[in-house]
Amino acid sequence: MMRKPKLRELGEAIKAVIVGPYTSKFPAQMPEVPERYRGKPNYDEKECVGCGTCALVCPAKAITMVDSADTKMRRLLCRYDTCIFCGTCQANCITEKGITLSNEFELSALTRDAMQEEVEKELLICEACDEIIGAVDHIRWVARKLGPLAFGNPLLMLTTLQSLGSADKMPSIDKDQIPLKRGDRIRILCPKCRQETGLVI
Ligand code: SF4
Ligand code: SF4
Repeated sequence: MMRKPKLRELGEAIKAVIVGPYTSKFPAQMPEVPERYRGKPNYDEKECVGCGTCALVCPAKAITMVDSADTKMRRLLCRYDTCIFCGTCQANCITEKGITLSNEFELSALTRDAMQEEVEKELLICEACDEIIGAVDHIRWVARKLGPLAFGNPLLMLTTLQSLGSADKMPSIDKDQIPLKRGDRIRILCPKCRQETGLVI
């Protein structure tokens, strides 16, 4: 026995013929994305200072931080194929604008390697032992935050003066002359080497 369509369904069918389907026309027509939508994370090279906090807090381990002593560069790589779009990186970014979740949602790619976002930052290296101290932009950011207080710390003072072009580079430390002398305190040194300069009489 043929069942008669219910009135509600009949009404829906007539409405669909007149106004078109309810579903979006994506990809022919891009849908409107809500303002607070959490899409692809994007680095802003100018705003990111390379502190590495986003890599530390990412619960999905989608962000990795790799320091290269050879190239003297820090690389932060965000893989949005493993990102869960939680927004923790953005919420904890020390500059608040270094990484932000955009409205981009169409993230398909042919390879997983194409699904990544990265930023590179120059590293500050200890003049005496070649140990990595941190990202240059991060040290400068700390100095800017401290204002005049930064001049109480030789590392912050020197990086600030060098960024202003007010400090000439000192001759390199003669590595054969180590241990360091007291006069070496006013140099770019890692905490361990700086401590050594304080132990010398
Ligand atoms: S949104 Fe969440 S999962 Fe994605 S990179 Fe940021 S912290 Fe990691
Ligand atoms: S400044 Fe922000 S985006 Fe850049 S490394 Fe630090 S937390 Fe990540």
